[in-house]
Amino acid sequence: MAIRRLILLGAPGAGKGTQAQALEELFHIPQISTGDILRAAVKAGTPLGVEAKAYMDAGKLVPDELIVGLIRERLQEPDTQSGWILDGFPRTTVQAEALDALLLELHQELEGVVLVDVPEDVLMERLVGRRTCLVCKKVFHVKFNPPPEEGCSREDCPKTWVQRSDDKEDVVPTRLAAYRAQTEPLTDYYSSAGKVHTVDGNRPPLAVLSSLKEVLG
Ligand code: AMP
Repeated sequence: MAIRRLILLGAPGAGKGTQAQALEELFHIPQISTGDILRAAVKAGTPLGVEAKAYMDAGKLVPDELIVGLIRERLQEPDTQSGWILDGFPRTTVQAEALDALLLELHQELEGVVLVDVPEDVLMERLVGRRTCLVCKKVFHVKFNPPPEEGCSREDCPKTWVQRSDDKEDVVPTRLAAYRAQTEPLTDYYSSAGKVHTVDGNRPPLAVLSSLKEVLG
């Protein structure tokens, strides 16, 4: 059976966002990135953004209750009917349990979990070199996938590539530590349900995508 309701697990810098964007285009199901939603809230200065900002700037996880509320709303939007790709959620066991309860309530089933696996020493270089298009949020890398000279695919591309403040060298180690302590145990959480597939993320984006397509069917 094809998998269209899925979680992408993996460390910061594993390429979850890049792959989720590609899968969204391919399968016409939304990428739901809690990081993107939070960054938009910070930019807009909403109460959620104001509360989340200090945690994000420090590379720490935002409190579970804020995140769970946000996902509860997002998973009830009409574009989620034929599937979804969770990118950056859940990140703690409490969030995973809340997701289980929410899906029961929504009569939806989690169909698969894919761990995008990348060795720790590669993650730092990937994160500090990451740049994002100011407009379309497409992700590039100064060395491995430089932003195109002609800009992204949008006609009005301002060719402005921004570095996330939490991709700075002094914040990245805190994010990786949070991953190890709080998120890595989720692989076991979902393994017991036999839902975890592992994909080698230490390869060029297209090779990773091709493995993902195979897994998702
Ligand atoms: P990301 O873009 O997924 O790397 O997320 C950026 C930052 O947003 C993280 O370092 C956290 O501060 C916050 N964040 C995103 N998703 C979550 C989540 N599921 N739980 C807690 N904090 C999160």
